[in-house]
Amino acid sequence: MTPDDRVYAYSAVLMGSPILLKLFEHNESLASGVFRLIKHQENTFTVNRPHSDIMAINHAAGRDPVTVSAPVFDLIRRAKAISCLPDSSFNFTIGPLVKRWKIGFSGHSIPAAQDLQTLLALTNPEDVILDEQTRSVFLQQAGMEIDLGAIAKGYIADVVRDYLREQQVENALINLGGNVQTLGAGAEGAWAIGLKKPFSEPDTLIGVINVIGKSVVTSGIYERYFELEGHCYHHILDPKTGYPLDNELLSVTIISEDSINGDIWTTLLYGMGVEKSLAYLEQIPHIEAIFVTRDGQIILSSQRQFTFTPLDDSYRITTY
Ligand code: ADP
Ligand code: MG
Repeated sequence: MTPDDRVYAYSAVLMGSPILLKLFEHNESLASGVFRLIKHQENTFTVNRPHSDIMAINHAAGRDPVTVSAPVFDLIRRAKAISCLPDSSFNFTIGPLVKRWKIGFSGHSIPAAQDLQTLLALTNPEDVILDEQTRSVFLQQAGMEIDLGAIAKGYIADVVRDYLREQQVENALINLGGNVQTLGAGAEGAWAIGLKKPFSEPDTLIGVINVIGKSVVTSGIYERYFELEGHCYHHILDPKTGYPLDNELLSVTIISEDSINGDIWTTLLYGMGVEKSLAYLEQIPHIEAIFVTRDGQIILSSQRQFTFTPLDDSYRITTY
């Protein structure tokens, strides 16, 4: 390894996650620039604090349209379009349910079925009125709440990638916790990104995903959950029932160009389950997936944009 191949790692805790930046030069000011950018984006999109652009929209629900910046408007427009797809398991108006369950936060509890019905009535994405002219967002019913938690990290990972490109960086990696975006290659060729073993220590891996200049997003039910009476309640909710999505999946990983697509597709495919997802993915070659199932399978939709090295032979590997 020549000195130029050395990887410099910078870390911070932002958006409630450890953030890791890898560069091939020692450049504190570039790293600070990246972390500042992430902080700024977090301040815009968070719903875990009283004030943000999104909270301004939520506070005005049932009352006033709120004008937002062009990037925020664009992201909301995109989130609405995906949420309104037929049978979509992605719903960006899921906020009232997320707030009620508090999964991954203190004070979590199982809501009464009647409460869920009441809250579900506040989660119709068609009730978000967008005005292109004024760039305003209006939540038609009081009590509605937008939650971009499922796509904010992907969006921000792409913003960081674009920023690094502008700074003439050719090879780098940003890990926002579940969302990894890469520029170019790593020290030994492709970047190596670990696939976590569900419900184990964070550094226990069942495989390694190698990519060059791609995003790798994993959404797993073991990331944020609580257990009660032998049942696991995790943080990806089924917009139809209001309960956590319940199927054969433990995690879905998406390999794609843009991390926002990874984020969108992890949630959409989660809801579809393995069989339907595999059929669907045949139509969209630029999106590839790795599914980990409850019965110990690792299923690869295809391997055009990545290679996969298994590390745990208790899992069965299937490639399509
Ligand atoms: P993370 O990477 O932080 O684990 P995910 O990308 O898996 O998060 O998204 C989960 C988050 O998205 C939840 O914490 C919640 O804020 C929100 N969310 C939960 N269910 C849905 C859903 N069905 N559609 C859209 N967003 C959701
Ligand atoms: Mg996501």
